[in-house]
Amino acid sequence: MNRLGAKIAALIRATGPISVADYMTICLFDSEHGYYTTREPFGAKGDFVTAPEISQMFGELVAVWLVQAWRELGSPLPVTIAEIGPGRGTLMKDIVRTLRRLAPDLAARANFAMIEASPRLAEIQRQTLADVGADFAWHADIEALAPQPLLTVGNEIFDALPFRQFVKTEAGWLERAIGLGNDDTLRFGVGTANLSAGALPSAAEPTEVGAIFEIAPAREALMAAVANRIARHGGAAIFFDYGHIEQGIGDTFQAVRKHRSEDVFANPGEADLTSHVDFSALANVARNHGLGVETSTQGSFLIRMGLIERAGRLGQALDETARDKISADVERLAGPDQMGELFKGLTILPQATGNEC
Ligand code: SAH
Repeated sequence: MNRLGAKIAALIRATGPISVADYMTICLFDSEHGYYTTREPFGAKGDFVTAPEISQMFGELVAVWLVQAWRELGSPLPVTIAEIGPGRGTLMKDIVRTLRRLAPDLAARANFAMIEASPRLAEIQRQTLADVGADFAWHADIEALAPQPLLTVGNEIFDALPFRQFVKTEAGWLERAIGLGNDDTLRFGVGTANLSAGALPSAAEPTEVGAIFEIAPAREALMAAVANRIARHGGAAIFFDYGHIEQGIGDTFQAVRKHRSEDVFANPGEADLTSHVDFSALANVARNHGLGVETSTQGSFLIRMGLIERAGRLGQALDETARDKISADVERLAGPDQMGELFKGLTILPQATGNEC
């Protein structure tokens, strides 16, 4: 067991089993050994590759959507353009570069902000954005943003926030807990907390004993904070993540290290821990704030925003090898067997305007 595993085992010995949400929070953000606090997760040498790290086209098409949304809002100024959970800062770099071409007035006058929980990643973002020609403010929380219209983007931020699991037992839905086995290794058990009646899975779902149901109050709280701002001050938001548009039963907890999934207890703090995002729950939060919400697959969103045309234009001046790379990137971002179907895009605008996601 590694050092963080030993620290978690000591915590469980002292205070009893912990929830999946607590395990995830410790593994990702422990100040000494946490995954996001200490590691470089992104890219071929890291543990996983995200859409903006695959190709500049992703950020360019997100920027196209942002400009459309801003114009639909009546081109408000002042306006904040914020990214939540920006990783290396690559997405924002591509967005700013594209805004300068498509909407120079917006690029010149927007207030840019990065919302990042990891001081180490915030430092990497500072380096990435040092020469993009825009000033950035860094905050740990969106509550710190000025009270003005907000254009927000986020890629793979919701899956990084903790979630809870409940197990169907003879005694009802009880929270899944993490305790210690006889050999002192981490293992799943069942705690005592009940799933509150309001959060129960819909009646149509099969719920045999042993079934797992996931909820994510921390994800819904982030969405509520974004939705609350947009409802009060105007703005729009776009988020991408992997997950499902319909609520579902099932265990989606996973650890990813060096591009492979592994046991969630194998290397605490050394692997990324995630679960599928329940887009129906997030969409409901935004709708409950009176906002218009659209969800679609990442593939159909990118193709609607002009992925194929953009790839064609980028390829024009390049040799065959570089063109093949662009085609492969299109396939990775939008292909149904790659990120195109599993990943979803969710857009939020003030009212249901029929805006396309
Ligand atoms: N958007 C990037 C990185 C995704 S990984 C990309 O697509 O490449 C998740 C990111 O969210 C990391 O930068 C992580 O440090 C950050 N993060 C996790 N929890 C957060 C929180 N509560 N608030 C802000 N950022 C958070």
